[in-house]
Amino acid sequence: MAFLYRSTRNENEAVTASQAILKGLAEDGGLFVPDEIPELDKTFAELGTMDYRGVAFAVMRQMLGDFTDEELWHCISSAYDEKFDDEKIVPVKYHHGAFYMELFHGKTIAFKDMALSILPYLMVTAAKKNNMEEEIVILTATSGDTGKAALAGFSDVPGTRIAVFYPKDGVSPIQEKQMVTEKGKNTFVAGIHGNFDDAQTGVKKMFSDHDLKDVLAENGFRFSSANSINIGRLVPQMVYYVYGYTRLVKSGTIKAGDPVNVVVPTGNFGNILAAYYASLMGLPVAKFICASNDNKVLYDFFTTGTYDRNREFILTTSPSMDILISSNLERLIYRLSGNDAEKNRELMQSLSETGKYEITEEMKSSLYSFYGNFANMDEVAEMIRTVYNEDGYVIDPHTAVAAAVYDKYKEETGDDTPTLIASTASPYKFTRSVMTAIDPELSEEDDFKLVDRLAELSGVPVPQAVEEIRNAEILHKTVCEKEEMESVVKKFLGI
Ligand SMILES: *Cc1c(COP(=O)(O)O)cnc(C)c1O
Repeated sequence: MAFLYRSTRNENEAVTASQAILKGLAEDGGLFVPDEIPELDKTFAELGTMDYRGVAFAVMRQMLGDFTDEELWHCISSAYDEKFDDEKIVPVKYHHGAFYMELFHGKTIAFKDMALSILPYLMVTAAKKNNMEEEIVILTATSGDTGKAALAGFSDVPGTRIAVFYPKDGVSPIQEKQMVTEKGKNTFVAGIHGNFDDAQTGVKKMFSDHDLKDVLAENGFRFSSANSINIGRLVPQMVYYVYGYTRLVKSGTIKAGDPVNVVVPTGNFGNILAAYYASLMGLPVAKFICASNDNKVLYDFFTTGTYDRNREFILTTSPSMDILISSNLERLIYRLSGNDAEKNRELMQSLSETGKYEITEEMKSSLYSFYGNFANMDEVAEMIRTVYNEDGYVIDPHTAVAAAVYDKYKEETGDDTPTLIASTASPYKFTRSVMTAIDPELSEEDDFKLVDRLAELSGVPVPQAVEEIRNAEILHKTVCEKEEMESVVKKFLGI
C-alpha cells in the first residue's frame, strides 16, 4: 500500500502523492509531508552502475507510490534527456577540497531545472490519474531562478498555464531577461514592487483564498504550485544526492555505507531538505551544512533555536537566496516535533503573527546533524577569486556561499569527511558578480561583453540559455504592486 502525504498543520488531511503534486499546498496552508519515508531498495553498488535516470527511478518510485512504473519512466525519460548539455546530467567535479555536483546543466542553467524539467510531466500524469478536468494554473513566486525554470518547463504544455511573479529590483539582469523574453503562449510574467517574500506571500494568499478558488473552478481553472513547497519538486531533488554519493562509491573515493557531508546554499530550505529526506531513505549523510548569505535567518535559527524574520532584507549577489521566510523549514520543524501537527501549527501561527517562533530544547537537541553558517558578499567574491586562481574553475555566487561556509566549517571542526557541495547555478547566470569578483576593473563593461570574457577565462562555452537571450525581444512588460497580484492573474486568465 502506498503511503499518504499529510498536511503539516492537520493530520486529517491526507492525500496520495499524485494529489499532493496537483494541490501543491494543503487546504489549511500546511505543506504535504510523507507519512513515512521508505528505505532505498537498491544497494549503493547497484545504484553506482546506473545512470542518472536509473537512480532517479529508484529514488522516485519509493516516494511516489501511486505512480505506475510506466508512468514514472515516461516522466523521467522525457525530463532528463538532451535538454541537459552534459550527458551525465549531473557531472561531479573535485575542486578546492570538495566534490561539486554541477546541478546547472539544464535549460535555464540553475539547479531548479533538476525538478522543474520533470514537474510538468508529473503534474500532467497526476491530472490524468485523478480524472481532473480543469486547466492547471501554475502560480509561482520567484527569487529569480524558479521563474525561468518553471516557465521553460511548462511553456506550451497542453492543459496548463503559468503565471510568474518576481521582485522587480531583486534579480540579476540575466535572470530578468530570461523571464521577460519567455515565448510560451500559456505564460505570464510580472515584476512586483517588493521583495521575494512579498511575492511569495501574495502567491500563498491566492492559494488559500477559497472564494478565489471557487471563481477559478467556475471558469474551469485550478491553481497549483511549482515552488519548492510542492513535493513534486522536493522528490526529484532527493535524487542527485543519491546520485552524487554513488559516483563517489563508483570512483573508489568512499566505500558504500561510508558517511559524507553535504553543503547546500540555502534560501527557502528546499534543496537541503531534499538532502535530509534522502538521508531518511538511507543515504549516509553525517552533516547537513546549511549555507546562508547575509540574510542569515537560518544560521541564527540553528545557533539559537529561534526563527526570527524581523530584520532588514538585504539584496545580495546571491539573489536566489535572498529570503527571510524559509518555507520548507516547516517540514523539518514538523518532523522535529515528532510529527505533531498541532505543535507545528502553533509555531507557524506565531511566525505569521509575530514574525518569529522558538522551538523547544528537546527539538533543538535533535538538530545536531545540521550545521549553519553564512558568508557575506565580500567573502563570496573572495571565494570566487580563490577557487578561480587555484585551478581556473569558476563558480557562481550561490555556490561560492556554500564553498565559503564549508571552509569555515572545516576550520572550526577539522572534519575531513568527503563532502558534496550542491553547485546550484552556472556562473553565466551571474556574470557581472562573478567577473567583477575575479577582476574588479571589469565593472564598466556591459553584461554580454562580460559573458564573452567569462568564456575566454573559464574555457567553458557560453551556454545556449545565455546565447538565446542576447537579442531576444522583451515580451512581458507588466510591473505591479503586491496588492494587485490577484487582479493581474485574473486578467491573464480572462476572468
Ligand atoms: C533557489 C536557489 C537556491 C536556494 O535553494 P532553496 O531550495 O530555496 O534553498 C540556491 N542557489 C540557486 C542558484 C538557486 O536558484
